Amino acid sequence: MSNKQIPKDLLSADNSVTYDAIVVGCGVVGPCVATGMARKGKKVLIVEREWSMPDRIVGELMQPGGVRALKSLGMVEAINNIDAIPVTGYTVFYNGEKVAIPYPYRADVAPAEKLADLVRNGNHQVSDDNTINAKDFETSEREKGVGFVHGRFLQKLRGIVAREPNITRLQGNVVEILKNKQNEVVGAKVDISGRGKVEFNSHITFVCDGIFSRFRKELSPDHIPKVGSSFVGMSLYHADMPSPNHGHVILGTSHLPILVYQISPQETRILCAYNSAKLPPNLKEWMNDDVKPHIPESLRPSFDEAIERGKFRSMPNSFLPGKQNDVLGMCVIGDALNMRHPLTGGGMTVGLNDVVLLIKKIGGLDFSNREQVLDELLDYHFERKNYDSVINVLSIALYSLFAADNDNLRALQRGCFKYFKRGGDCVRLPVSFLSGVMPRPFLLTKVFFAVAIYAVYVNFEKRGALGFPVALLEGIAILFTAARVFTPYLYAEMIG
Ligand SMILES: Cc1cc2nc3c(=O)[nH]c(=O)nc-3n(C[C@H](O)[C@H](O)[C@H](O)COP(=O)(O)OP(=O)(O)OC[C@H]3O[C@@H](n4cnc5c(N)ncnc54)[C@H](O)[C@@H]3O)c2cc1C
Repeated sequence: MSNKQIPKDLLSADNSVTYDAIVVGCGVVGPCVATGMARKGKKVLIVEREWSMPDRIVGELMQPGGVRALKSLGMVEAINNIDAIPVTGYTVFYNGEKVAIPYPYRADVAPAEKLADLVRNGNHQVSDDNTINAKDFETSEREKGVGFVHGRFLQKLRGIVAREPNITRLQGNVVEILKNKQNEVVGAKVDISGRGKVEFNSHITFVCDGIFSRFRKELSPDHIPKVGSSFVGMSLYHADMPSPNHGHVILGTSHLPILVYQISPQETRILCAYNSAKLPPNLKEWMNDDVKPHIPESLRPSFDEAIERGKFRSMPNSFLPGKQNDVLGMCVIGDALNMRHPLTGGGMTVGLNDVVLLIKKIGGLDFSNREQVLDELLDYHFERKNYDSVINVLSIALYSLFAADNDNLRALQRGCFKYFKRGGDCVRLPVSFLSGVMPRPFLLTKVFFAVAIYAVYVNFEKRGALGFPVALLEGIAILFTAARVFTPYLYAEMIG
């Protein structure tokens, strides 16, 4: 957006007052923090470097747990009138076989909490629009997620922000988190077109600057993400979806995971994993040779057209366990604080549920009492773990498993898929974890090891009676591998 096009009110924020809160970044999490705090009566300044609609390949499938958080915040209208596609579950493909994994029954999950002062005038419910039937969305027997074009969703969130009387919006690049002599945060310095670098003061500064956060290091210089793989994305148009209204996870012994989900009536996102942060030199060739043979037949015409168009985009897949917010006057939240593998589409769900908890913890406090706010933030770190660690650990463990590069991992893959095929609790529990409605890390651990034991059993079956001694040794190796895949991440999330 050139300087001329930036509306004046986005450049004129007052820097002579002390805001209750400054929010850095208006992506997914920032607008929810700002709106929640504003509805709690706080005077909020939100700074975003680019308010026009972004075009990104992230944050396009929201799990039911994320939709529920939007309901708690009174912001679920953000999924309305953006041609969003309701999602009713997943279909997992494995070496050509498939299994449907519907989302959990609504009756098994408590209704979404309505936060005081935030939920009003029915803003916790979706309405009818071109693609969403409100009655079906709100009352069908299973929980629902939603797929959408990320930029459209963001613009709806930003529209809510613009309507809040307690929020001042500012377009500018935050260049520094301001600190006093005691190293406490007192605000932010913003580079504003036509005004230069301007200092703004606040009782608390929320850092929501996302995956490539410049300010997460303010928590600690070693708060640095690990990047082990990437997703290469393309848009498919008018794709013939094998299982409409489902996320598709395509797995196999000879390729890396591929995700496919519809994000509008016309557009479908395909994300193809590549096991390095550095992309293959010839993406067209890689797509044709290493991806295309593994996708369902019905997707191939739209896939071929997408390859012809040649619009490939990529994103690094990062892992970053959360860290305690222990700096007075600052709270880091969203991807800036904590990241997981996008395989399970859990990032927005974690971020939004963090906002719900944050508002419950500090929304009612006077932000000028900075020590009291800090006390609550120290607690908040431990309280968020139950919910977030389940989604985070599951994502990384599943990716490690399905990007398998050794026989034990491949045995775990086979066992995992066969476990899903058993149906009943073997599907209900994993999908409850994935969809963000079962925040029980120790139950996740139990289920993960149940899958591992089942994989050992499947391996015994495969080896037959004569192969018993080999299967026994392999069984030990499989269990050891399962522990290696799972426990370091659980430890990092729960103990860190
Ligand atoms: C490949 C990929 C696919 C994904 N798919 C999904 C998915 O399907 N479902 C899901 O739930 N999650 C998904 N995620 C994760 C999800 O995108 C993030 O969890 C989510 O966007 C985090 O929200 P956020 O507000 O923390 O950051 P962001 O949404 O990245 O927002 C950060 C904002 O801060 C602004 N900003 C940054 N720096 C500054 C600055 N210095 N000054 C002013 N403004 C600044 C940016 O412009 C941006 O608007 C995916 C991630 C990846 C990598």
